[in-house]
Amino acid sequence: MTDIPLNLDVALGVTIPARNARGRAVRLGASIDSILANHSYPPVIETLLAEALALTALLGSLLKDAQGQMTLQAQTENGIVDLLVCDYLNGELRGYVRHDAERLAEAGPAPSLFALFGKGYLAITFDQAATKERYQGIVPLEGDSLGQAAQSYFTQSEQIPSIVRLAAAKGDSGWTAGGIMFQHLPEGEEGRERIHTKLDHPEWAHVAVLAGSAKDEELLDRGLPLDELIWRLFHEEGEVRILPAVALSRGCRCDPAYVRSVIARFPPEERAQMVGEDGFIRVDCAFCATDFPISLEEVSGPASG
Ligand SMILES: [Zn+2]
Repeated sequence: MTDIPLNLDVALGVTIPARNARGRAVRLGASIDSILANHSYPPVIETLLAEALALTALLGSLLKDAQGQMTLQAQTENGIVDLLVCDYLNGELRGYVRHDAERLAEAGPAPSLFALFGKGYLAITFDQAATKERYQGIVPLEGDSLGQAAQSYFTQSEQIPSIVRLAAAKGDSGWTAGGIMFQHLPEGEEGRERIHTKLDHPEWAHVAVLAGSAKDEELLDRGLPLDELIWRLFHEEGEVRILPAVALSRGCRCDPAYVRSVIARFPPEERAQMVGEDGFIRVDCAFCATDFPISLEEVSGPASG
């Protein structure tokens, strides 16, 4: 019943009941372009962030709570990339990367995940708005790709056998990023008692092989709607249920009014020290690389002091 186009800037959920598997497929286009447009990252970092945003969309769209938030954070002590943050709220994505441009230039055109992060960690946080519950899992950032790191996050930290594939590339029509993720949930989607889940479950092995056969070209093919991609991978299954699609877009939640209210809480002397040469306090949002000029008058509040 969905009227959301299934080619770009969309996440699609899938279940394969007979295999106790659930999955997600995502493809991003304009949303990636508009996130990257606010930064001027080198190609390696753009590709990394595009893949991270595809992963964020895969994970975020798992949230049942529409106001729930998912945050993906990769960080290291002394990697070329010291911080990568992406988040998801109600179909909106944003993200940024902090990196050392000089060391990156020395690392060549296609550095490995390890070359970028060194000994790093991947943290995935789900905040449920309805219940105010927060759940965070952290795993070492291992493997050749962000997809593999996410896969080991679920397999090790969550004890959920999972397969994750991510791809991103820039073409004539801009950036495309795509991903699929499938998980084995023999105990159903609820509950966390999955320690005894066998990784070699035959019904799961089959799903993992089929999902793993997705090629980068297919993940990135803007002409291939996600339901057709799923069908291509799983057409021999007896029943594949396609769930409602979720439209995805770039969205930053930085809020000038909120920033002003924070600054207004500083003592007047400290506020005065924040003013730059142009006469404004400048506060910038790392996610969208936008800065807000705030004048002292705006934040001096009633009868300050
Ligand atoms: Zn922002």
